[in-house]
Amino acid sequence: MFTFCPDCSATRRDVSVDHDAGTVTCPACGATRQYESQPLLVVTGASAVGKTTAYREVVGTVDAVVVESDLYWLEPRGDVATAWRSVPDESRHGFHLLRYASLGQSGRPVVAFGSALGDAERTESLAEADYFPCIEYLALVCDPDEQARRIRARPGWDGAADSGEPWADVDAQTAANERFRRLADDRADYDSFDNTDATVDETVTAVGDWIRRRL
Ligand SMILES: [Zn+2]
Repeated sequence: MFTFCPDCSATRRDVSVDHDAGTVTCPACGATRQYESQPLLVVTGASAVGKTTAYREVVGTVDAVVVESDLYWLEPRGDVATAWRSVPDESRHGFHLLRYASLGQSGRPVVAFGSALGDAERTESLAEADYFPCIEYLALVCDPDEQARRIRARPGWDGAADSGEPWADVDAQTAANERFRRLADDRADYDSFDNTDATVDETVTAVGDWIRRRL
């Protein structure tokens, strides 16, 4: 783990990464070690825009480590999901970045699929964002009426909405979709693909092409 310093045993999130030199420097003692600098690609979006489907089709087809950032919520035992819920957002997002930078040490970029990290302004306010030479974003978006229709059509939506599952909250999810669309309008490092009228295959192709252009 590059945040641990074998020279002084400090573990610091504010290590100094030099992406050109490929080094990381311990802020406690100044020791410098080799660092594999890799970009991070984030494929994000609100509920019912096709992230999970795109993940399933793209994983294994690109020369990158493709991961699901929402894995913690889906952990079948439930203990991890419960504990993860109690972790503050900032720590959760910082841990995602730490984990992806750590995976990058094996020499390939990471593509993270999920709702986490999609808020670029919040992501890049974290010290851990400095572990990457760049972070680029692709948000899958759709028309809010179509998104609401898709959410309500999901198996188990009624019960999930009643029990307060975030994915089933139509108002919150359409608001998140609108925020992703605004980010794509405002930022050069933020793209979107509107799949309101697209087939699943077209969405998968668009996501795969976007990733391959950046590798
Ligand atoms: Zn040190």
